[in-house]
Amino acid sequence: METMFEEIGKAAKGFYTTHDGLKVTPEISAEEIQKELSKYDFEGPHSLPDIFDDVMKYLKKWTVHVPHPNYFGLFNPATTEASILADAIAALFNPQLAAWSHAPVANEIEKHTLDFVRTRIGLFDNNFFGCFTTGGSEANLTAILAALASHFPSYLAKGLSSLHVQPVFYLSKNAHGSFDKICKNVGIGTEALRKIPTDTSWKMDTDKLRAQIKQDIADGFHPFMVVGTAGTTSAGIIDPLQQLKSICKEYDLWFHVDAAWAGAIVFSDRLKPLLNGIQQADSITIDAHKWFSVPLGAGMFFTNHKKAVEQAFNIGADYMPKKSSGMDDPYVTTIQWSRRFIGLKLFITIAERGSSGIEKMIDRFTDLGDYLRQQLTSRNWIVLNNTPLPVICFTHPQIKKKGIRIDDILEQMYDRGNYWISAVTLKNGEEAFRACITSFHTTEKHIDGLIKELDTLIKPFMQS
Ligand SMILES: *Cc1c(COP(=O)(O)O)cnc(C)c1O
Repeated sequence: METMFEEIGKAAKGFYTTHDGLKVTPEISAEEIQKELSKYDFEGPHSLPDIFDDVMKYLKKWTVHVPHPNYFGLFNPATTEASILADAIAALFNPQLAAWSHAPVANEIEKHTLDFVRTRIGLFDNNFFGCFTTGGSEANLTAILAALASHFPSYLAKGLSSLHVQPVFYLSKNAHGSFDKICKNVGIGTEALRKIPTDTSWKMDTDKLRAQIKQDIADGFHPFMVVGTAGTTSAGIIDPLQQLKSICKEYDLWFHVDAAWAGAIVFSDRLKPLLNGIQQADSITIDAHKWFSVPLGAGMFFTNHKKAVEQAFNIGADYMPKKSSGMDDPYVTTIQWSRRFIGLKLFITIAERGSSGIEKMIDRFTDLGDYLRQQLTSRNWIVLNNTPLPVICFTHPQIKKKGIRIDDILEQMYDRGNYWISAVTLKNGEEAFRACITSFHTTEKHIDGLIKELDTLIKPFMQS
């Protein structure tokens, strides 16, 4: 065992900074992978060093390398050394966080970390409650369950059919798709979703929101929540949070802010004002496994309505350890039961860098986003989205003029394997490229390389 820990330590060291030849998108064929895996028929044992070598080889060869400096993709981060270490420590002690008394220090480390993030957000209510989740989807689900428990307490025992009204809630057309899934899962149905059109700056149109709420009330529906997205996945747009809050106040609606990616900017004094209004939210989603650069499986949920959360999740279980006085047991305040030590990776990452170190990282990503925007526009590319955040939607005048398909260009990019960006469909149906600064290994040099790659790829189309 000891030597294998040394091996992974050696392999991890500088992996994504020293492997210059590593392709971001290797050639991947399901048949080839399955053929290789057939070697593992599980009939007999293999030695751990051999398995280790195989798995390392597989992952080097057959995965999109999201921590790679040339990955300008979805919000999947490179991971800090501290956070990789944290996941190993959590696996070693394997503390069970379900009941506080079973894992006191792990539970306190999570609370301590969440408490710090909440002061950065500016949540100071005495009824504060926070928890780690597996990601933004679980945090958004927690928000909806808490909002439902708060608005329709009778539904907890008697179910939604007892309500005699159809609950509805509101979000921007560009909000995250997890809400569609949640509607199916919690039984309110996707028709409960009111997707509000966006204005010219791609933010939720608050006049249209107000009109829809009025219409719904007149039609006998029961509005219960508004979701403001702070940093849309496609274009980094932040809804007008303060205006949304006043509409929520006016109609007595729960105000949830989905800041899964951009919530991290509460650590940046420069960027934090963009989230003004988030402090008045009833609940908030922020992912740790995005801009905080820790491994997947780490989201955060915050609320000032502890009672609603307790109502939503409280149950009795006679085989569980007795509650320690005054301490919350996560199994009765959250969706999960058995609970992994998710928060350790964020704790160690913030502890190692200090909040000023996190701020530096956030600001650096933002500066690199500005650099990418400048380089694109100086070479005749057109930036389509208006956000100070480091996600850029762009196209080229020739692409529209000649009817070139974005996907055709991307396919070539992926075949070459040196860079990864994605395509996005914008409000008017227009296709565009989307590039996000998401790896802290990325520097100006990598951005220059991306622009060169794009120029190379569209050149043949320009001539034809
Ligand atoms: C990523 C994201 C989600 C989903 O979070 P997961 O961690 O992938 O479950 C929800 N909302 C927004 C705005 C996101 O960017």
